[in-house]
Amino acid sequence: MGWLEGYVAAVTGGASGIGLAVARRYLREGAGGVAILDRDIGGLSSLAAEFPGRLIAVAGDVRDAAAHTELVTRAITSYGKLDVLVGNAGIFDFRRPLESYDPETLGAAFDEIFAVNLKGYMLAAMAAREALAKSNGSMIFTASVASLYAGGGGILYSTVKHGVIGLIRELARELAPAVRVNGVGPGGTLTNLRGSEALGQAERSLADKAAEVEARIAAAVPLGFAQRPEDHTGLYVLLASRDNSRAVTGEVFMSDGGVRVRPL
Ligand code: NAD
Repeated sequence: MGWLEGYVAAVTGGASGIGLAVARRYLREGAGGVAILDRDIGGLSSLAAEFPGRLIAVAGDVRDAAAHTELVTRAITSYGKLDVLVGNAGIFDFRRPLESYDPETLGAAFDEIFAVNLKGYMLAAMAAREALAKSNGSMIFTASVASLYAGGGGILYSTVKHGVIGLIRELARELAPAVRVNGVGPGGTLTNLRGSEALGQAERSLADKAAEVEARIAAAVPLGFAQRPEDHTGLYVLLASRDNSRAVTGEVFMSDGGVRVRPL
């Protein structure tokens, strides 16, 4: 028997990387249905085949409120309720520092990165709030090592990921006692995380230099390995499970190889 027997989840950015690993793990833990919102749902066919009738894919952009409404509506229409929202879709800035911008490029990249990485989470929360209150469910947002420390991203990514912690805490306060709201903070993880279109990085991916990224992360963290999406999924299961984290809200669990205890 899994930890999420009969649960229904909605996952943004669930067609790749960490979101895909979370969706797969939820289904393996017994989830009755998982609905995924992603702008590119092409990679979901093997998951759909592995769990027939238990996966819904909604193609859309997390900056669009209507896409979130469709995600939640389709989950409820197909599976009768919603227990968990995982806000996860995001893009990177490939560590661009402030000095590399002028006001125009900063404005365009700010609007895009904040809209995807933070407004997308708020719109998801807005769409799922009522259904989760009915089920006494929870929200889990993907934060980052960049939510706590400088250097995990550039000026925009680090700032927006710090903002995710503010979002989690504020929503945890606003939605208590009906809905718990928490986060998971991955460290450098081997995924296809892409960059900002406004910065001309839309086709650039962490995977382009996977071996280099893997070696750099492994050398930088006390546990000595670069994380894989599957390494984080247990925390998403724990935080979703009413039986196992009933008293946890407003928290962000880091899953970063021990950055906090890195030697100076
Ligand atoms: P990924 O690119 O593999 O997955 C992100 C998914 O989000 C993709 O499927 C993508 O299509 C989707 N997406 C992006 N923009 C979208 C939009 N506007 N509308 C709809 N879908 C959109 O990358 P990942 O590394 O799995 O990223 C997932 C989350 O993890 C992000 O929030 C990211 O910031 C965070 N994170 C990643 C790392 C890392 O090192 N990979 C570390 C810490 C946190």
